[in-house]
Amino acid sequence: MQDYNYVWANCFEITLELSCCKYPPASQLRQEWENNRESLITLIEKVHIGIKGFVKDSVTGAGLENATISVAGINHNITTGRFGDFHRLLIPGIYNLTAVSTGYAPLTINNIMVKEGPATETDFSLRPTVTSVIPDSTETVSTPGTVAIPNIPPGTSSSHQPIQPKDFHHHHFPDMEIFLRRFANEYPNITRLYSLGKSVESRELYVMEISDNPGVHEPGEPEFKYIGNMHGNEVVGRELLLNLIEYLCKNFGTDPEVTDLVRSTRIHLMPSMNPDGYEKSQEGDSISVVGRNNSNNFDLNRNFPDQFVPITDPTQPETIAVMSWVKAYPFVLSANLHGGSLVVNYPFDDNEQGVATYSKSPDDAVFQQIALSYSKNIRETSTSGYNPVTKNVTVRSEGAIQVNFTLVRSSTDANNESEKGKGESASTDDASDPTTKEFEALIKHLSAENGLEGFMLSSSSDLALYRYHSYKDLSEFLRGLVMNYPHITNLTTLGQSAEYRHIWSLEISNKPNISEPEEPKIRFVAGIHGNAPVGTELLLALAEFLCLNYKKNPVVTQLVDRTRIVIVPSLNPDGRERAQEKECTSKTGQTNARGKDLDTDFT
Ligand SMILES: [Zn+2]
Repeated sequence: MQDYNYVWANCFEITLELSCCKYPPASQLRQEWENNRESLITLIEKVHIGIKGFVKDSVTGAGLENATISVAGINHNITTGRFGDFHRLLIPGIYNLTAVSTGYAPLTINNIMVKEGPATETDFSLRPTVTSVIPDSTETVSTPGTVAIPNIPPGTSSSHQPIQPKDFHHHHFPDMEIFLRRFANEYPNITRLYSLGKSVESRELYVMEISDNPGVHEPGEPEFKYIGNMHGNEVVGRELLLNLIEYLCKNFGTDPEVTDLVRSTRIHLMPSMNPDGYEKSQEGDSISVVGRNNSNNFDLNRNFPDQFVPITDPTQPETIAVMSWVKAYPFVLSANLHGGSLVVNYPFDDNEQGVATYSKSPDDAVFQQIALSYSKNIRETSTSGYNPVTKNVTVRSEGAIQVNFTLVRSSTDANNESEKGKGESASTDDASDPTTKEFEALIKHLSAENGLEGFMLSSSSDLALYRYHSYKDLSEFLRGLVMNYPHITNLTTLGQSAEYRHIWSLEISNKPNISEPEEPKIRFVAGIHGNAPVGTELLLALAEFLCLNYKKNPVVTQLVDRTRIVIVPSLNPDGRERAQEKECTSKTGQTNARGKDLDTDFT
């Protein structure tokens, strides 16, 4: 995938393998953050090296989109963005740059000096020609180049310590969704949560944008992206990106480094490119390939077009989503976070014969510097989980691809075996509209019961009403709510079903663990018939809606402060597991595992 970014987009991408164990125990996650924190930040800062500027029409001053910027001696061109802006990553040195745009005389600027630190600013003012044919002669201007004045961060106090993330556990998909929506909700001025589309199993492919101007490409401001969890069983990157979201959000405005970074860079963080594979993976797994591929059993990292070898596998939904993303945003620098060893890879993956070997790209020097900046900042640790032989991160171009091939080949049979006979769930698209409407009705009902008129729905469209929650998902969802909103939630089990599934009961209250007999109690129960799960979904959405809006919306705040809300979303989890989506009239799953209709079972 790194080659695709470099060859077909303007983006320099490297591949980082962050941990020896692909899916380490949750107790190691804090250490992983400590080890990688500085590197993750430093790498984003690398988006500012080299030469940046604008290509403009010398008469009108308008920015010229799609102008080509070439560097003498480096056979790799980039193009300008929508405002004529460009960022050419380069290591320190002296360069001659040429800007070419159809309908204009090309312009070369010689002897542009690039130093360590912020990019040198150089603008190109192109003279329009009467014909659209590019003339033979190239105009040449010789300037020493202007060095940008570095942004001096606001007075750094030596006593200042950035706030560290608190949330160190493995986030299953429902939990991750709740986490992302929580931060988008708490930090609306610097975040935008968006989705690139859906995975094979209809999970959203979320991206969190962090910028001082979310949703907007600011001319001259470079864009950076991190992609995690492309291989579903390599999970450290996924958790690190969630940590990074928390770190950037909580330190913006108080920590000079974070504030400067967010002001000067548009950062896109995709914690999971393969959410389906993740759900099949196992904690503690260090080497297997279970969950590596997507739900159609394709390796997403082998699913992007290669410049040397044709890729014959069908292009997967996750790949298509990321390819359109790369085309739609002017990314300058990117890293793809993997696991399984401690190594930094950079283009090219292979040579012209398609052989995975040391294959230099024209920008080998830039890639080496970027890769080194990451490895140098990895915190050395003496954690016992680290193999001392591989603790020092090495930088190399060759090898990792071959390792991956070996892993896949040696266990293909076992992998196929485990995938056999697993039916994939059908689309839940048609579930969203009716449920949203019913949810609004439910909220109105709830408000009316409490005399809360004029209740405004602000964020129901952001809730997860697009995909049914299986028992496992439902359990992860409820745990996720408690993890994200510990001060107003309490999760207990009323007991177990005939097949030993928990009957979860979630309490939402301002004092969830303290009995307040004077407070009225409202209990919502759903899913008594497992084949009618819409109510279950509505109650999950209601629970998150209340959490999201507590202390934000006065009506919700008052409701939670003055009422004890108890939610039992699935009274018949065994029946729920048997029921089939889109079976509108089937009785399958109506009763519990012993054939009892629970609705007539109360005495
Ligand atoms: Zn990987």
